[in-house]
Amino acid sequence: MPQKFQNLINGKWVDAKSGKTFENRNPANWNEVVGTFPKSGKEDVDEAVKAARAAFEKWRLVPSPKRGDIMRKIGDLLVARKEEIAREMTREMGKVLDETRGDVQEGIDTAYYAATEGRRLFGHTVPSELPNKFAMAIRVPIGVAGIITPWNFPMAIPTWKMFPAILSGNTCVFKPASDTPRTATMLVEIMMEAGLPAGVVNIVHGGGGEVGNAIVGHQDVDLISFTGSTGIGKNISKIASDTLKRVSLELGGKNAQIVMDDADLDLALDGVLWGAFGTTGQRCTATSRLILHEKVYDKFMSMLVDRTNKLKLGDGLLADSQVGPCVNESQRKTVQEYVQIGQQEGAKLVAGGKIATDGALSNGWFHQPTIFSEVTPEMRIAKEEIFGPVLSVIRTTDVTESIKILNNTIYGLSSSIYTRDINKAFQAIRDIQSGITYINAPTIGAEAHLPFGGVKQTGNGHREGGWTVYDFYTEWKAVYVDYSGSLQRAQIDNY
Ligand code: NAD
Ligand code: MN
Repeated sequence: MPQKFQNLINGKWVDAKSGKTFENRNPANWNEVVGTFPKSGKEDVDEAVKAARAAFEKWRLVPSPKRGDIMRKIGDLLVARKEEIAREMTREMGKVLDETRGDVQEGIDTAYYAATEGRRLFGHTVPSELPNKFAMAIRVPIGVAGIITPWNFPMAIPTWKMFPAILSGNTCVFKPASDTPRTATMLVEIMMEAGLPAGVVNIVHGGGGEVGNAIVGHQDVDLISFTGSTGIGKNISKIASDTLKRVSLELGGKNAQIVMDDADLDLALDGVLWGAFGTTGQRCTATSRLILHEKVYDKFMSMLVDRTNKLKLGDGLLADSQVGPCVNESQRKTVQEYVQIGQQEGAKLVAGGKIATDGALSNGWFHQPTIFSEVTPEMRIAKEEIFGPVLSVIRTTDVTESIKILNNTIYGLSSSIYTRDINKAFQAIRDIQSGITYINAPTIGAEAHLPFGGVKQTGNGHREGGWTVYDFYTEWKAVYVDYSGSLQRAQIDNY
């Protein structure tokens, strides 16, 4: 019998009210069931929101350095259980162990950052225009935060959202992706063990349609932080407008790496392989396009195809695996569809292109790392997010044209340029439309203490990470203290 997991509501582990469950399977071996989880509905969300609302009234009054102490404890517990969590994460979503360890590490970094932020949460003191009057702006918590997350970073992304939310004095109703409920459960177990009071964090498992929608539409949820696909993000934005919730959306990407003719080609090769095929291409920041200078095109392509064909596909738990499976059947089907689209559009398939079925791979959602060459900027495989191990290579001439090609998408999350020419690098920094730009490094590798997010249809202008995320989880309150003992009329008595 597979292990049975539950929701956490008001500090208690409970089944869905309906009693329904769903299975979570290992994408590297679909015969293995990781566990069963509650298939929750609106009635479960209502309970969780009620608990979070009640907890908020007390939690908001706990001094933030004390809240920070709990964050530090969460970080310590994550350190202690890092390997165990990484293994469970690989088992439920497939990426290789090195990467799931990195995913947990990002949670640890985010916890320790939040712990120190408990002693900052800076506001401003400013001069008043009137005598004997004091003016300042302080941050106040907002209330109940609805947290909806994808499966590709099952630890890092929930921590990016919930740690700053809770450190700031809010409480959370968390709906993880139904492909990664196990990692999410371990995270909230640890948060409770670290000493969070009942109701500060609640987890409700289930599908986006039922649980996600119920959270977004709920009258008593004050803000939504969502990471996922652009289509669903737009839908969330519409539903949330009914209650005028604050909404942070981190959505799709179509990231590119530019390689100029003066680049260190070996370095650029390591970068593009890691960017395109790390996490089986299933990162919002994955390198989905290579914009390659014509002078080095043939040479670099032969280096790239050679190394790609040598990548070892396999179960992420095995030490020699470099590329794991796609997360599920529908994701692999999408990849296959785009392989067809690329061929119909006239791009040249130069590596991979097929479902991988040899030996041990036959029971998992494996797909060969795939490269299309001679892609033109207007092709769909050059513009649309694929979210799988597929790289589209576009020929270019100079840096200005390369940047123009890079910007030719509705997305704007991450970007990269390999060049030894500082003038070109700074032109790229200025002109690339994206939230993140790397010089001589791949499109992936964001650090927890810097702003993370994208422009255009990658998001709605908010940032996660670092100090900037605290603007999302707090409301500004302006405070005036008049100690003059008389009525002083602003804009009137001082002029
Ligand atoms: P998804 O949009 O399918 O699901 C994300 C979450 O939303 C899941 O928890 C899902 O259950 C829930 N959901 C689904 N329908 C919903 C609805 N109608 N209402 C409310 N919630 C709903 O995305 P995914 O497949 O889990 O993740 C892949 C996508 O996420 C890609 O597009 C990727 O680019 C994006 N992503 C973006 C970032 C970023 O920071 N910009 C990071 C990681 C992933
Ligand atoms: Mn799974």
